[in-house]
Amino acid sequence: MKKIAILGSTGSIGTQALDICARHPESYRVTALTAKSSREKLFEQVRQFRPAMAGLLDGISPEEIPEDLRFCRWMSGKEALHAAAAEAEADQVLVSIVGIAGLQSVMDALDAGRQVLLANKEALVTGGHLVMEKAREKGKPILPVDSEHSAVFQCLQGAGPNRLTRILLTASGGPFRTWKKEEIRKATRAQALKHPNWDMGAKITIDSASMFNKGLEIMEARWLFDIPEDRIQVVVHPESIVHSAVVFEDGAVIAQLGVPDMRVPIGYAMAYPERMSTGVEAPDLFQLGKLTFEEPDEDKFPSLRLAREALRAGGAACTVLNGANEEAVARFLREEITFGEIYEHVDRAMNRLAGLPARNIEEIFEADRKAREVVSGK
Ligand code: NDP
Ligand code: MG
Repeated sequence: MKKIAILGSTGSIGTQALDICARHPESYRVTALTAKSSREKLFEQVRQFRPAMAGLLDGISPEEIPEDLRFCRWMSGKEALHAAAAEAEADQVLVSIVGIAGLQSVMDALDAGRQVLLANKEALVTGGHLVMEKAREKGKPILPVDSEHSAVFQCLQGAGPNRLTRILLTASGGPFRTWKKEEIRKATRAQALKHPNWDMGAKITIDSASMFNKGLEIMEARWLFDIPEDRIQVVVHPESIVHSAVVFEDGAVIAQLGVPDMRVPIGYAMAYPERMSTGVEAPDLFQLGKLTFEEPDEDKFPSLRLAREALRAGGAACTVLNGANEEAVARFLREEITFGEIYEHVDRAMNRLAGLPARNIEEIFEADRKAREVVSGK
C-alpha cells in the first residue's frame, strides 16, 4: 500500500490521479489533498477518499467545513501546502499545482524525504538546479509526470546513463500549427483554448498554442536528464501518439507511444518501477495508419528561440521568461492583450531583466516578481 499526497487535487492532473487511485484502492491510500479555491470539488474528493488532511490556499474557517468532513484536519493558506508536502504521512507527493508556487512544495517534499511525482514543470524551469541538487542529496530522484518527460524517462529504463546523445521532444504544434504568422498574432481566447489533442488546464492550453509550453519543456528536460539544450530537439508531431524519443550513440531511436491521455504518465510515476492498469487503451496502429513529423517554425513561434536563449543566459533568465509568460497569459485570458503581445511581453521582460541571479529560492521569487511587474505594468 502506497500513501500519496496530492497537491492541486482539483485540477486536470489531480483529478486524473484520483481516478487512478479509485481504480486501485488496494494499492493507494490518499493521505492529503489541496486546492486553491475549488471548495465544493475538494469537499467531494475528501468525502470519497477520506484523507487525514485537506487544505485550501484561499482559506476555510471551521464553521464552513461540512459536518461529515470534520474527521479530516483542515488547513488554510501556504501552511496547507507545506503540511501536505512535508507533514502528511505519505510515500509519494504528487505536485500538480500550477505555477511557480510548485517550487517551494517540491523542495519541502524533498526535504521531508518524500518521493516527488512532478507535474508542475515550473519548479524545474525556475529552480531546476536547486531541485535536482536536493533530489540527489536526498537520494530521491524526481519522477516526471509531464507526458514528454515521462516518455523520455521510460525510454531510458535499462540504458546506461552516458549513452544518450539526443532527446527528441515531440510537440503537437497546437491549434495554430497551420495558421499564418499574422493570423496567430490576432488569435482570440476561444481559439487559443481549443487544443486539438489534449484536454488540460487553461494556462497550459494557452502555452501549447503559443508553444511556450514546449519552451518550458526544453528547460524541464535539461534539468531532469542533465543534457544541454542543443541536444534537445523539438519535433512537431500533430497526432500526439509518439510522446517523445531518445537517440542513442549506436543510432538507435527508442520512442514511447500511447494515446494522448495523462493517466498513462501519471500512473507510470505512481507505480514506478512497476506498471499498472490506468483505464487507458493502447493506440490502434492500423486505425492510425500513419504518423507524421515536421520541423518547428521558430519564426511563427518565437517562444522556442526565447526559451533556448534563456537557458543559455543562465541565472534567473528562465524564471523571468516563465513569470513574464504567466502574467501575459493571465492578461490574455482576461482579454487585456492580444495573443501576439504574449511574445512581445516576454521578450521585453527578458531584455529588461537580463543578468538577474538565481542562487536560492528568494532570488528566484524576486526575479519572478520583477518579471510580472514588467508585464502587468504595476
Ligand atoms: P489546473 O489549472 O487544471 O489545476 C491546478 C491545480 O492547482 C488545482 O487544484 C488548483 O486549485 C491548484 N492551484 C492553482 N493555483 C494554485 C496556487 N497558486 N497554489 C496552490 N495550488 C494552486 O492545472 P493542470 O492540472 O493542467 O496543471 C498542473 C501542473 O501540471 C502545471 O504545472 C502544468 O504545467 C502541468 N502539466 C499539466 C498537464 C495536463 O495535461 N493538464 C500536462 C503536463 C504538465 P483550484 O481548482 O482551487 O483552482
Ligand atoms: Mg507536456
